[in-house]
Amino acid sequence: MDVYKDRKTSDIIIKKINDIAIGLGNQKICHVCGTHEHVITHYGIRALLPKNIEVVSGPGCPVCVTTQGEIEAAVKVAEEGAIVTTFGDMIRVPSKRSLSDAKASGLDVRIVYSIHDSINLAINNPNKKIVHFAIGFETTCPTTAVAVLNSPDNFYVLSAHRVVPPAMDLLLSSGKINLAGFLDPGHVSTIIGTKPYENISNKFKVPQVICGFEPNDILMGIYMLLKQIHEKRAEVENEYVRGVRVEGNVKAQKLIEKVFEPCNIRWRGFPIIEESGLSLKKEFSNKDAYKEFDIEIEDIPEEKGCSCPEILRAEKNPNECPLFGKLCTPQNPKGPCMVSREGACYISFKYGKPFR
Ligand code: SF4
Repeated sequence: MDVYKDRKTSDIIIKKINDIAIGLGNQKICHVCGTHEHVITHYGIRALLPKNIEVVSGPGCPVCVTTQGEIEAAVKVAEEGAIVTTFGDMIRVPSKRSLSDAKASGLDVRIVYSIHDSINLAINNPNKKIVHFAIGFETTCPTTAVAVLNSPDNFYVLSAHRVVPPAMDLLLSSGKINLAGFLDPGHVSTIIGTKPYENISNKFKVPQVICGFEPNDILMGIYMLLKQIHEKRAEVENEYVRGVRVEGNVKAQKLIEKVFEPCNIRWRGFPIIEESGLSLKKEFSNKDAYKEFDIEIEDIPEEKGCSCPEILRAEKNPNECPLFGKLCTPQNPKGPCMVSREGACYISFKYGKPFR
């Protein structure tokens, strides 16, 4: 029996959720993970919760939070004659000039399945500059670090890497939404462990539960959060003990620290968030595409009409965007949240299960 998917186990947890939710009033729980959103929507978990418990999606999709300024930087690098590589969803993200538009105009932009494909491209094209547009949270940074340390001279990184806890801090300090707790991202936590979240719970008196990716992980995570709320505790608990150690993956952390340093960076839908980005350290400036091509990130205003900024700030749900499913679909996306497989709009459209 797979206890993480077993229906009888689900029923037991759902009953516990319903019992503890009585008398708690309305509680809004936020997750910051595209895979959590996928599991929650795929398994219809929102429909299983009592009416006073709402689960909203935050800035957990790395493709969605990458700014137009960063995409424009990648286009400019391609205009300089470099081969730009990135992952599939990134190419289709609407922007001032999207990477698919750049490709259609004849620039050399290629989809890769891993950063190692980019390195192979560099090995096989020694006379070309290969630039990998590196996106992702703490989970993907170690692989980029390894690539920086083990790649030929003609390989560069355009880093759009970000770290999650500062964005969670900003969500709470903005005061725009009243969040009762966080379901913390399992994948990110396998790398960073439990400690980086503790400041958030201490500062805002908000409970957190690091959560795995099976339906019963999510239900259990919600129950554990509600139990903390009921008991007036604000701690970082770990539901995903089979994947996350307190100290995280120390080897991966050391790789990140060796190659990257924190930087202040804007997220789509957010102002600049202090120390939420990762740029290459000075000693790796020979690998830094921003330095090699002398490019700075432009500040490009968000498109009007698309509610992705509000969705990424957990202020709106996809079905509250007037374009959802009408003018904006996965075939004709108007914003990143409808492009990425981790985007809340794409997932909601795919499964046809609206938020409530
Ligand atoms: S439905 Fe489309 S336009 Fe609306 S928020 Fe989502 S991605 Fe943006």
